[in-house]
Amino acid sequence: MFVYRQIGRVGYYYSTLLQSKHAFSTRIGGVSATPETAGLNLAYGRGDDDATVLENLKLFASAAGFDPERVISLPQVHGTDVLYVTEDDAGRGYVRPAYGTGDGYVTDREGVTLGVKSADCVPVLLEARDADGGVLAVAAVHAGWRGTAGGIVPNAVRALRKLCGNDVAIYVAIGPCIGACCFEVERDCVDEFERLCGKEIVDACFTKAQNGKYFGDLVKVNRLLLHDAGVPDAQIDAANICTCCNPEDFFSHRYAAKHTNGKRGTMLSVIWK
Ligand SMILES: [Zn+2]
Repeated sequence: MFVYRQIGRVGYYYSTLLQSKHAFSTRIGGVSATPETAGLNLAYGRGDDDATVLENLKLFASAAGFDPERVISLPQVHGTDVLYVTEDDAGRGYVRPAYGTGDGYVTDREGVTLGVKSADCVPVLLEARDADGGVLAVAAVHAGWRGTAGGIVPNAVRALRKLCGNDVAIYVAIGPCIGACCFEVERDCVDEFERLCGKEIVDACFTKAQNGKYFGDLVKVNRLLLHDAGVPDAQIDAANICTCCNPEDFFSHRYAAKHTNGKRGTMLSVIWK
């Protein structure tokens, strides 16, 4: 179950399924002052000066309980690789230069907070538990449609198993993202899903609209890919909140494309051991 929590002015969501400390930010709270980023924009280069973004990171960190200097979140490229990171990587992308790109991270180390940015794309946080329920490692993934179709979420499951062993139990929280209500795509996008994920998943997750376009359910695709990767449904939690339908609470790439010339802020989802 997803729960909304507000600490001071900052609002974020967490999943009661995960044992690890984690948080999915919203746009609520924060000091961004441009109309499009107003609130808690957590990405550089979207209209706020860098000091404002860092102040927002501090506010989010203080509310959620992580060290803002220890976050790694690199420029995202809609890839499918999951990088193993350690405390040596802490700070990359926010308080230190990024040195590279990344859409997924896994770690078994304390002292580094994994961060993925999103504004419609699917933020996914995972943990691997041993037989006693202790958390051995955590992972964070940015899954847009390309990353989802390419299988970055099952890649994170594999990375956790590689790190901790095949007998670990994987728990997954899928944060607020664009819903099937708003994720309208052309046939070529559906074809790409069919090529990469198979017809069965496409039939289950896409519906044809009257205008000949399609509506896709990215949460469901990731859920079915997780089932295929051996993660049972009881170990998957999803917010089921559409970022595009709720522009007061979330930054949304699609909403911004229609209403604000594409200008928008970005959320951050974090998990740490
Ligand atoms: Zn929607």
